[in-house]
Amino acid sequence: MTTVPTRTVIALHGGCGVMSRALLSEAEWEDACADIRKALEAGYTVLSEGGSAVEAVEACVTVLEDSPHFNAGHGAALNANGQHELDASIMDGATAQAGAVAGAQAVRNPVRLARKLMGQTIPMMLAGPAADAYAVTQGLETMPQSYFTTPRRAEALAAMRAHDRLGTFASESEKHGTVGAVALDCAGNLAAATSTGGFTNKAVGRVGDSAVIGAGTYARNGICAVSCTGQGEQFIRHVVAHDIAARICYGNQTLTEAARTILAESFTPHGIGGGIIAIDQEGTICAEFNTEGMFRGWIDADGALFVATHRD
Ligand code: ASP
Repeated sequence: MTTVPTRTVIALHGGCGVMSRALLSEAEWEDACADIRKALEAGYTVLSEGGSAVEAVEACVTVLEDSPHFNAGHGAALNANGQHELDASIMDGATAQAGAVAGAQAVRNPVRLARKLMGQTIPMMLAGPAADAYAVTQGLETMPQSYFTTPRRAEALAAMRAHDRLGTFASESEKHGTVGAVALDCAGNLAAATSTGGFTNKAVGRVGDSAVIGAGTYARNGICAVSCTGQGEQFIRHVVAHDIAARICYGNQTLTEAARTILAESFTPHGIGGGIIAIDQEGTICAEFNTEGMFRGWIDADGALFVATHRD
């Protein structure tokens, strides 16, 4: 079913927990967007040199994990104990091979660890200290917890604790974020990857959709590649990333119809925020969200680069 495109596509999201415009200075917005461009260029360079979609999404997400502006790797959210527990996953649409990490506390780039796990049949998913120990055996860099903490995440945890005490509601940006990428390579292969610190003030040991293949990440050649952001529990309940593929495959929906239907039926009526970035086999890009904004960007089949944060 795979076609061979002559052109390649990469698209990413930096989470649907975008804060209101007034909360960041112009310089901070520009800095975050510059990191999105850098991530897109890292992925696109891989694709232009004939690299695989899997290599491209790994390269792209690694840049976002290293950026302090997004909730993954450096800049990840803090849990209820004031610690970082990192989730990530990656999937190759050509082979259905996948790798996933849950609750890692030391590996610098969880997406790279997920990729290492993708290379083997069993285990394809590791959690907690075992994940970090495996990272060391694979020669991946580990960091102290302090590396992942940024002043903004510490403030968000304090704000969430205050909301709990006062019974007030948190904004989307205080709560969460995530990064993810999807790609189509010159051989017609699709891939997706997602990485997150999860929710600010999340329960210790809580695992979100970003670590769950089929929920937060999914790729299948001939159909689509998907990476999700938003309340992970809802993405797991509705197996969203896989459901998008199923709606295209069995329900004859387009990629955008599938993503819109899921957000409209399973998220918005419950007041739950969600965002989806996806591409189909033809390289059509879909970026849907029901929150105030979603960091996102892509380099399309014509090589045009696009970056946006809100509904622009
Ligand atoms: N989906 C992530 C999680 O539930 C958080 C997010 O994307 O905002 O862990």
